Amino acid sequence: MGRMEELVALLNKYAKEYYEQDNPTVSDAEYDALYDELVMLEQFGGLVLPDSPTRRVGGKPNEGFKQVKHKERLYSLDKTKTVEGVGEWMEKLGKDAPVALTLEYKYDGLTLNLSYENGRLVRACTRGDGEVGEEVTEQVKTIKNVPLTIPFKGEIDVSGEGLMPLSSLEKYNLDAKVPLKNARNGVAGAIRNLDVAETARRGLSFFAYNVGFHKGIEFRYQHEVHEFLKEQGFNVGEYFKVVSDFEEVKTLLAEAEEKRPTLDFLIDGMVFKADSFALREMLGFTEKFPRWALAFKFKAEELSTLVKEVVWQVSRTGKLNPLAILDPVDIGGATVSRATLSNISEIRRKGIRIGDRVFVRRSGDVIPEITGVAERMPDAKEVEKPAVCPVCGSPVVEKGVFLFCSNNENCAPKIISKLEHFCSKDGMDIDGLSEKTIEQFYNEFGLKSADELFTLTKEDLLALEGFKEKKAENVVAGIQKAKTTTLAKFLTALGVPNVGKKAAKMLEQTFGSLEKLMAASVDDVASIEDFGLITASSVVDFFAAEENRVLIEKLLANGVTFLKEEKRDGVFSGKTVVITGTLSSYKRSAAQEEIRARGGNVADSVSKQVDLVVVGEDAGSKLEKAKKLGIEIIDEAAFLELLKQ
Ligand code: NAD
Repeated sequence: MGRMEELVALLNKYAKEYYEQDNPTVSDAEYDALYDELVMLEQFGGLVLPDSPTRRVGGKPNEGFKQVKHKERLYSLDKTKTVEGVGEWMEKLGKDAPVALTLEYKYDGLTLNLSYENGRLVRACTRGDGEVGEEVTEQVKTIKNVPLTIPFKGEIDVSGEGLMPLSSLEKYNLDAKVPLKNARNGVAGAIRNLDVAETARRGLSFFAYNVGFHKGIEFRYQHEVHEFLKEQGFNVGEYFKVVSDFEEVKTLLAEAEEKRPTLDFLIDGMVFKADSFALREMLGFTEKFPRWALAFKFKAEELSTLVKEVVWQVSRTGKLNPLAILDPVDIGGATVSRATLSNISEIRRKGIRIGDRVFVRRSGDVIPEITGVAERMPDAKEVEKPAVCPVCGSPVVEKGVFLFCSNNENCAPKIISKLEHFCSKDGMDIDGLSEKTIEQFYNEFGLKSADELFTLTKEDLLALEGFKEKKAENVVAGIQKAKTTTLAKFLTALGVPNVGKKAAKMLEQTFGSLEKLMAASVDDVASIEDFGLITASSVVDFFAAEENRVLIEKLLANGVTFLKEEKRDGVFSGKTVVITGTLSSYKRSAAQEEIRARGGNVADSVSKQVDLVVVGEDAGSKLEKAKKLGIEIIDEAAFLELLKQ
């Protein structure tokens, strides 16, 4: 079989599943890609097979319904995926002067054709294959915003789209035995359902956008049609524009795509139609679509892919959240390789198993979601509930449909708060890193150790919920900037037990470098004023612990460096000096500055590491301590002499 025959067979199988069985097994984007390939082969080879889907609209009407021949044929729409494609079409249409076009949402539901006679709804049909549709009058009557009577008393067909609002879908799926795969499927299955009560249960909505056959009224423009439909009491949606300028079109398309995730119903693009009916008359139709209309398709929001694994993440509250690891797919320009699953009962209800092919949906910034199973695979296996916590190995407890780690003390919550502490203002002071973001890093990347922060890239962050270019750039810049820090901030960030901000500062002043501090003995540290033996031991123990040394090594390897004061040469070079008591000729801070200017290191407290103590009036305990430690002591006069050198 040649590629063309193969494509025709495959597309016909998919179309049957989609149009006739309301049970698609591939996403629209996957279908469209194959369809486009077929169109290309047909154009290239100049041959169109008799059963090619490019010759047909929709699928066969369902036998269970009464078949109705439409008074006027219903068509599909020509499509483009690019703004340039729209530009070319506009140029073709308006060779001489720009043409007025109407612009509407392309609703992604089920086409419906409603026939009114003498002001009453007499029949409602699906599009079917464009010539013959299925009669679904009773089903359509359950849609609350379909007018059963209209003021216009002539004969008229109104076409539009039946949609299942996303809020209705969510509500329906909450307690549905078999959850719906998506809203488009929800509406198609609801209307083509012989059980009218089921149709009513789905809370559908109708959006009118065209008139077909009509008698007793004339239209010259699409905008007149729009006004007419509104006057007759139809829901025409909130979006309708008349445009002719390509620059404006570009802006409007970008705005609409941005707006798309905020709408309560699915749209998969925008529809352009020539406003003038006279022009339409001239342009006519192809076998499948009008030449006077064009659909601009948005980037895909849904694709199908394989579930490779399901892992359990432990959140800050100790809750175990299932996360599906997917065969990576590009959805709307972002690579999706994971999707959240709410809980085990949701997994069972949707029938998701490891190895199945599933539909994955990503809309705007929201976390990708598995909407349903596309294809059940024979070797797929059930998702098992974990018996122990994947982080700490403690037993798992069940509360309702959720699973929790029974050890809240030393599990995920602790890891997350350690990371938060590391990034906090007194610690590494990383700009733009909120608690929520840190939790996302933990949940999404399994980030557990502070050094891994420095390996994150902009691309990594773009995969997270709520991250756009700018924010990702800012966070990465903030992390990179924080690499250059002070020893005191670094010590605070590491969370050395018993060492707060002030003690960290004293350690920095006393030892001057990380190497010296790490080599210090309990005695060395305990000699610092206000440092008791307990604090000193916890500092020394901290640096003796293998895991902490490894972490520090990794942090340094990832580029953490310390700001050092410029080393200046002078009489105090290489010396640590403490000033105590009041000097008569200098303020304390000015005197410290003089010491630094001559290469000295200034400390606030006396310890073994101090080389010189300058004593002013009313010196107290520091003088005593210096004497005890046998440190060199000078008075103010001697200090002033040194400054003269
Ligand atoms: P279409 O649904 O992409 O576009 C034509 C339809 O758009 C019209 O029939 C009309 O009902 C609708 N429409 C929405 N808003 C409109 C508006 N404002 N004005 C006018 N019309 C508007 O094309 P189609 O031929 O009906 O269906 C083909 C599409 O169906 C494919 O592109 C594919 O995405 C999907 N499909 C998917 C599968 C699958 O297996 N997943 C199979 C077959 C088809």
